[in-house]
Amino acid sequence: MNQINETHDAALKSFIESANDGLTDFPLQNLPFAVFRRAGTSETFRGGVAIGDQVLDLAALAAKSVLAGDAAAACTAASESTLNLLMAMGLPAWSALRLALSRALRVGSAHEPQIRACLLAQHDVEYGIPAQIGDYTDFYTSVYHATNIGRLFRPDNPLLPNYKWVPIGYHGRASSVAVSGQSFPRPVGQIMPPGATEPVLAPSKRMDYELELGIFVGQGNALGSRVTIAQAESHVFGVCLLNDWSARDLQAWEYQPLGPFLAKNFATTISPWIVTLEALAPYRAGWTRVAEDPQPLPYLDSLENRQQGAFDIQLEVLIETPRMRELELPPERLCLTNYRHAYWTLSQLVTHHTVNGCNLQPGDLLGTGTLSGPTATEAGALIELTVGGKQPVALSTGESRTFLEDGDAVILRAHCEKPGAARIGFGQSYGRISPAAAL
Ligand code: CA
Repeated sequence: MNQINETHDAALKSFIESANDGLTDFPLQNLPFAVFRRAGTSETFRGGVAIGDQVLDLAALAAKSVLAGDAAAACTAASESTLNLLMAMGLPAWSALRLALSRALRVGSAHEPQIRACLLAQHDVEYGIPAQIGDYTDFYTSVYHATNIGRLFRPDNPLLPNYKWVPIGYHGRASSVAVSGQSFPRPVGQIMPPGATEPVLAPSKRMDYELELGIFVGQGNALGSRVTIAQAESHVFGVCLLNDWSARDLQAWEYQPLGPFLAKNFATTISPWIVTLEALAPYRAGWTRVAEDPQPLPYLDSLENRQQGAFDIQLEVLIETPRMRELELPPERLCLTNYRHAYWTLSQLVTHHTVNGCNLQPGDLLGTGTLSGPTATEAGALIELTVGGKQPVALSTGESRTFLEDGDAVILRAHCEKPGAARIGFGQSYGRISPAAAL
């Protein structure tokens, strides 16, 4: 596990002023990775690191021979159009690069002139999908979400008996994962109208979002091998925001017996920046399993996981309706919750995924599942907030929503803060629904 080191020192300041205001998502202590290019160009995407309101171009930096050793090798790997090579290098390389960049970006850095020559303003760039995602798995790690959803779909039997023993997941679709800023048409699919005896093909009327974190796999494991819980975190490169858009009416009709299919695979929006586990080290939290619940089987349990396997990440969902844009009003918050409440930790997800010998590969993406917290206002999806569409959410514009309407955008944000540590953030995931394509 990553420990606190000099890169986390809250007193560190960068010569880039915008990194030092205490409000930015991207102070010197964060240093998340993305792939980017100048907006509106056909330049090749390359790796970058966020610092204040700037992006440090890692391809440009690699060409300047400012870094040495493992850090230089990692910087060269990050010059590619995806981060898969960097992800495959493993923790020593990621950590060496983080330390070198932290030192190079500090006030008094001997490399300030060379670094300045590699900076672009974030508002002048566009982002790509940070990795070539071979496979995408979505888990279901909030017991509150599982219970709330289960109650709506199966009132007599909300939480299935396996839930508290096995981290539930399904194989999602990597091809429809897109980066923040996307707009996509409302999906069309088979829907069984209430009281009907035959389904119809129609645009979804129950469009929803799901507030999740995405976990990017770093080093993989060979087919047939397994990753132990002690090794699990060394296989994780970092974490981003993930919106698992969901068409609830398609889902209700299709989900039995094999789980979600077309209700989920038309769009998944992720934030461009990947925050490394090392950056999150100050925000580790203990993980517990209440005494009345089954305790994890030994392969999913360890002292280390119980002491600091969870992360204190504050999560937020906002909605921006066309009316808000018209009136130039800011997006409105729908939910505030925390990753701490997850029933299974990130280590348990990686361990369980590989226990049968399934091979994870660099750049694979694991969704945590909707991260609803224990109270009603901490629900990470509209279907929970509105109790299946029965209790509309009132917005300050006088509008209300049960599910999402055309033109609505959903914004996910996250950050970590506590006394004695630098506040770090994740940027955002923004996605907007356009009208369904004509049938
Ligand atoms: Ca999900």
